[in-house]
Amino acid sequence: MFSIVVSCTKDKVQPKEYETENVIIIVMDGPRYSETWGDSSHQFIPRMANDLAPIGCIYTDFYSQGETFTIPGHTAISTGFYQYIDNGGLELPQRPSIFQLWRSRHNAPQDKSWVIASKGKIEVLANCSNLSWKDQFSPMTDCGIESGGAMSGYRHDSITFQNTLDILSTHHPNLAIINFREPDFSGHTCDLEAYQQGIQDVDDYIYQLINYIETDSLYQGKTTVFVTNDHGRHSDGVADGFCSHGDPCDGCKHINLFAFGPDFKKDVILSNERELIDIPATIAELLHFDIPNSNGNVMIELFK
Ligand SMILES: [Zn+2]
Ligand SMILES: [Zn+2]
Repeated sequence: MFSIVVSCTKDKVQPKEYETENVIIIVMDGPRYSETWGDSSHQFIPRMANDLAPIGCIYTDFYSQGETFTIPGHTAISTGFYQYIDNGGLELPQRPSIFQLWRSRHNAPQDKSWVIASKGKIEVLANCSNLSWKDQFSPMTDCGIESGGAMSGYRHDSITFQNTLDILSTHHPNLAIINFREPDFSGHTCDLEAYQQGIQDVDDYIYQLINYIETDSLYQGKTTVFVTNDHGRHSDGVADGFCSHGDPCDGCKHINLFAFGPDFKKDVILSNERELIDIPATIAELLHFDIPNSNGNVMIELFK
């Protein structure tokens, strides 16, 4: 009996120490991989290709394995679970979010965690329907028009970009997600040039945000950034191609992931298969909290 007690004590795993103190997730809404890293010319993502890839890791086989719509994709990132959930902002995620779990674990103030989004409906990420967690440890939100909540419509990404800089400099959140509505918004108009321009605009916002993080005294050297997509769009030849999305075709499921941070390797292209729910699993590892029962896996290949 005594030996069992000793053995349990000896085997207790100590949490690893990381340089990371803050994690920022940036979502470029709905580009196809074939117009981001999957296009070898990288013509629509010059910042990602020239300035960001050298300082982080890019995945060539990263997928959404859930429904390929905005709210399901964002919910997978924020909860660690794929869930059939209304895409109009009429339904809360079932499970507590990483924002709630992190705030609860570390007893963190509300303004240290944020959901910032061009699309108002993304505000549903801030809460969940699980009665043990509903209205508990919620993050701050700045979503849609006039912060009017889940049904407040969409705002231009330039507003989201400026609001993000204001929030980062004022509150210095430790954990935040930022959604840019492009290129999804223009993709739905079926205007190819506007869709491609949307990718380039967000590519530049992403670069400027990471540049801010790396020059801010409280963020530099302590901040991990994940840049990904909530879903892709139909492959050419599937339905109306880039104009829409929502089925399990490769164009809808295959997305981009860039990961940057003080604990991660630099200038590495990774070709092992990963998926959206592995992002929250990796964040939970970095920031020392648990996501009970999630099937997401820590992306150990990222770490130095
Ligand atoms: Zn869409
Ligand atoms: Zn599709």
